[in-house]
Amino acid sequence: MPTPARIDALASRLEAPLLVTRAPNLRYLIGYTGSNGYLLVRPGGGGAFLTDGRYGESAAPLLEAFPHFDLRVYTGDLWKALGDLLAGLERVQVEAAGVTWEFARGLEEKAGVAPIPAAAGVEDLRRAKEEPELAALRTAAAAGDAAFAALGELLGRAAREADLAWELVAEMRRHGGERADWEAIVAAGPAASIPHYETGPAPLGSGLLLLDYGCVVDGYHSDMSRTVWLEGPADPLMRQVYGVVLEAEEAGIVACRPGATGHEVDEAARAVLRAAGYEEQFLHSTGHGVGLEIHEPPWLRRGNEDPLRVGDVVTVEPGVYLPGVGGVRIEDMVLVTESGPEILTGSRRELERP
Ligand code: ZN
Repeated sequence: MPTPARIDALASRLEAPLLVTRAPNLRYLIGYTGSNGYLLVRPGGGGAFLTDGRYGESAAPLLEAFPHFDLRVYTGDLWKALGDLLAGLERVQVEAAGVTWEFARGLEEKAGVAPIPAAAGVEDLRRAKEEPELAALRTAAAAGDAAFAALGELLGRAAREADLAWELVAEMRRHGGERADWEAIVAAGPAASIPHYETGPAPLGSGLLLLDYGCVVDGYHSDMSRTVWLEGPADPLMRQVYGVVLEAEEAGIVACRPGATGHEVDEAARAVLRAAGYEEQFLHSTGHGVGLEIHEPPWLRRGNEDPLRVGDVVTVEPGVYLPGVGGVRIEDMVLVTESGPEILTGSRRELERP
């Protein structure tokens, strides 16, 4: 998927050389998926990519698509290799949210180049999803939908939360999901009141069940949540809460238009919960971008004045959590288009289980 156009777009924004080290950014720019890489991009274009002996052979064909970048492979001292890569530079921008204190000190003290913190340059470029990226996101979202549609069958093979989490991942793999890089959240009964509950050996029971899960296709993540009632008539309080959360989610989705700020989308969902008296029980923000990372910009939260753009893919996921009783979260993935929101996840949204 990566093309020189992405690096050219980054280079045209730079005022000083940038050392890209964050794994999703290296994947986005040059298709590199190893665990150790340093891509130097100079303002206006050109640079070099440094990795260690474990990855040299697999990086070589990737770099062929980028004639203005040489491949350098080190087998000895990292700091010496970085000193050579950055030779002649007094300062280099580093990804402030992606390097450790130790790395920044090492650059200065051992490689002799002063690090300066860079804002989220590559993350910002990554927001505008291109067609092949959207295809991967759609496949990942569809795999999540397929697992939800099979819930009745999966429940027949799982008696405990962790077993169902495993079955959800296995079902997504049967539908094109390559892996899940986070554990599915499966929270039964009152446990659903903990937004990021740690799924374990608890029995699934016969009442409330909250599921939050996703998979990865070509590096791109899916993320969805559904809340269902397993057997018999649902608890009236949970049914009422479900209706409110669903209305909040729909308001949030409708608000996902180009130009709407993260704050405005959050407020659209939050206002519904507030009117129903549940704002205090909404314990997180309304949503987040999703792509090469499960959580990435833009952020749909209070105070974020950054506007949505065409090509953003975000989650909308309001929830209401009642300690000791249970909780409801409904989450979908939404593509922001010229004409408004397009929902990428398509699972039905009803409290009755499929
Ligand atoms: Zn999410």
